[in-house]
Amino acid sequence: MTSATEVMNTILQNIPAEAEVTRIEYEGPKLALYTKKPEFLLLNSYIISDLVNMIKKRVVVRIDKSIRKTETEAKEIIMNILPKESEVTNIVFDDTLGEIILEVKKPKLLGSKNGASLIDLTCKTGWKVKIFRKPPIASSSLQNIFQAIITAVESREKFFKETGERIFRSRLSSDVEVSILTLGAFREVGRSAILIETKESKILLDCGINPGARNSWDAYPRFDWADIYLDDLDCVIISHAHLDHIGFLPVLYKYGYNGPIYCSEPTLPLMNLLHMDYVKVASMEGTKRLFDIRDIREVIRHSITLPYGLVTDVSPDIKLVLNNAGHILGSSMIHLHIGEGAHNIVYSGDFKFAKTKLLESAVRDYPRVETLIIESTYGAKEDIVPDRREVELSFVNSINETLLKGGKVLIPVPAVGRAQEIMLVIDEYMRRGKLVEAPVFVEGMISEATAIHVTFSEYLSRELRTKIHETDEDPFFTEYFTNVEHHNNREEALQEGAAIIMATSGMLEGGPILEYFEALAPTEKNKILFVSYQINGTLGRRILDRAKQVPVIKDNGKIKIVDIKIQVDRIEGFSGHSDYNQIIKFVSKLRSKLKRVIVNHGEKRKTENVAKVINKIFKIPAFQPSNQEAIKVY
Ligand SMILES: [Zn+2]
Repeated sequence: MTSATEVMNTILQNIPAEAEVTRIEYEGPKLALYTKKPEFLLLNSYIISDLVNMIKKRVVVRIDKSIRKTETEAKEIIMNILPKESEVTNIVFDDTLGEIILEVKKPKLLGSKNGASLIDLTCKTGWKVKIFRKPPIASSSLQNIFQAIITAVESREKFFKETGERIFRSRLSSDVEVSILTLGAFREVGRSAILIETKESKILLDCGINPGARNSWDAYPRFDWADIYLDDLDCVIISHAHLDHIGFLPVLYKYGYNGPIYCSEPTLPLMNLLHMDYVKVASMEGTKRLFDIRDIREVIRHSITLPYGLVTDVSPDIKLVLNNAGHILGSSMIHLHIGEGAHNIVYSGDFKFAKTKLLESAVRDYPRVETLIIESTYGAKEDIVPDRREVELSFVNSINETLLKGGKVLIPVPAVGRAQEIMLVIDEYMRRGKLVEAPVFVEGMISEATAIHVTFSEYLSRELRTKIHETDEDPFFTEYFTNVEHHNNREEALQEGAAIIMATSGMLEGGPILEYFEALAPTEKNKILFVSYQINGTLGRRILDRAKQVPVIKDNGKIKIVDIKIQVDRIEGFSGHSDYNQIIKFVSKLRSKLKRVIVNHGEKRKTENVAKVINKIFKIPAFQPSNQEAIKVY
């Protein structure tokens, strides 16, 4: 089924007249059927599933504007139907899609899976109702997202329509050719960016910056080399919300890109959190910033979020599926299905091939994959993570040693990922009496990221998910933790006495961690405990490499030299990346399907080692290209 007219005809022939479908429109990668009788299609859901099977396109049921209740009427209906105890805290009307987003404190009370009552609400209000779990700590990112979408109704309607027309344009030829262009994060970590080119399409995977780079040639993806016009890009697909994968994204909009971004549902608010923080830190330090808040808003307005496992057309010859990568909340492996199955690419993004407290292990079931692009952050032979229990014990021992002396333990963490894993470990061991009880201070941005974990709890590990869904309780913010909301509260965290402090940024490139570090570094009984990867060139890496003195940039942009007397320790096993064994094990699961492996996202030595081992053990051609190479894979 190729031509748009054919698709439309099939739909018209297969939808019963009782459904009262008034029009069919593109809505980005989906076809939207507008109906005056939503209950018919929602209750007879087989009609839509049969249709999807026939046309092989995503279909969504939308409600004709003429039967939508006014916002005031809809609000009243909702408040009357929902049980009071569920505590509705916010109602957002998305006029573009005809959706209502309800923020609810206790969605459990809405019945299992929320199914029946949601259909009921939809039919009575004429709006499609979606439920979001309201976390105990407010997340400004979600509010930013709501704000950005409700203030851009017309431009979003246009965007969805044009995106759809572009995706479903007719193909120019039936020949398939596929090339991979390396723009960043090859033989290095940072500025991840890969361009996939076929005869029909150009697709960008990730768009990051290198936080450790000292000049702009090394800091940003090499778009200049790829000679690409932003207008030619079909879409950007984002693997996960870390700056080295998303830091350059708003810049594309600044320079005129207006196509879609695809990412998982939690990735959007997490990205927003990091982009906003980037602007905040840059303006405090007085450094020139790459992009501004208006560019971040464009990122939101052009993002199309996808759940894991759903096949979505992103261009005339490429289909996309996102799968859990086990690295951070919402992190995805990107599976591209090119030219009716002629070629399949899996890009691992950052991935963890093992279960953690926070997340399930990365997905390894790919029906077909000829080319694998795989990260190798921990790709050296010696990068082997000890058993998880041992890791937790050395973490606990290291902290206890300092707390018992009355010292403070400073843990630099990226706001997203390690922070939440560490909070779960601290909570568990304090509860069991194995970790000395002391106040744990958590900086505001980490708390915000944690809140997003609660809202998108269906992306968490099975145990956490069950706990949240069955009890409507927050497993992260227990009595041991204090949220540092304002920087005046930092004084409390720095007062005499033992304490644990968790702050961003994870590599000490800006953020509140610097203020704590400056205060704690000159004292020998304190400790800085690293739990995540430190990119070459970052302040974190220099401290880890035992510098005696380091320059710290203050909030006002001035530089202060800080003497380091503080103990320095690192615990490796909490990483959200696969260790050497897990990388090789992952490849071994796919080996029978693979035609080649491209190794990236690792220091040169590590990419070389992984490629060499894959060649040798599995006899699969494996390369470690540099940046600015074009590799024809089909
Ligand atoms: Zn990452």
